[in-house]
Amino acid sequence: MLRLELRPELAEAYKSRSQQARILTESWAGENLYCPACPSDELLPVPRGEKVKDFACPDCGEAYQLKSKGHTFGNQVANSAYDDKIDAIRRRTNPSYLFLQYDPEAMKVVNLFGIPRHFMFESAIQRRKPLSERARRYGWVGSVILLRRLPEDARIYLVAHGREVPRRSVRDLWKRFSFMLEWPVRSRGWAADVLACVRQLGKEEFRLDDVYEFEDHLRGLHPENRNIRPKIRQQLQVLRDCGVIEFLGRGAYRVMQSCGHQAHQRAMDYGLRSPQTSDQPHDGRVKL
Ligand SMILES: [Zn+2]
Repeated sequence: MLRLELRPELAEAYKSRSQQARILTESWAGENLYCPACPSDELLPVPRGEKVKDFACPDCGEAYQLKSKGHTFGNQVANSAYDDKIDAIRRRTNPSYLFLQYDPEAMKVVNLFGIPRHFMFESAIQRRKPLSERARRYGWVGSVILLRRLPEDARIYLVAHGREVPRRSVRDLWKRFSFMLEWPVRSRGWAADVLACVRQLGKEEFRLDDVYEFEDHLRGLHPENRNIRPKIRQQLQVLRDCGVIEFLGRGAYRVMQSCGHQAHQRAMDYGLRSPQTSDQPHDGRVKL
């Protein structure tokens, strides 16, 4: 069982609120986190010098970046330098993410979800404007992770609404799409985008025409591709081969229920449908 209480006494020596929050959440993570990617029941802090990794698994080596907030995560999260991030994704050295939300009054972890690194692809990362001349790091270009771009399968809850999700379900879900890591980044993005459309439909059975409704949306995400409909059909085949959907014939499909996905749905049923917040992506894309 995870102990969900934070330990305020650890942060007493620090003055700034952001430093206090960092100490509280990082110490909690160091004492409580387990590896969702393998059976290891501990994660170890990575020395400070490693910018994009905060924790690593001593058994499988999976690296994690921890993001913490005293309120809900919105649709997008500011992240590290853009060029380095894209480069890491292309070289498959990007870390997985853990998003920790705590209640600053109750001093407890409320929600904790991870995004496995195989679900990170270039079009889910947005480039920010370079910092202005007044900034200390003038010209530095940061990035934003567009959480809303990712299919719900990418968001794996370890703690949902103040309750721990069973580790076995977490690990099953984490592994489910790990084969995508072997794919070229562009294919990964396509499969994830079409999967997001299928999930958006929210139906157990659907038709090809239902997915074609997303044609303009997908064209906006992949302007380099002129043949969106054949690409949709190809990606539906990919999702079938992955055991996510089943072909019923005559343009009809059924969504397969994996035990992991059911656990995820249960976690979501605790009241965790993606939060509707005001910080929409500002790139003019249709939001998913
Ligand atoms: Zn591990």
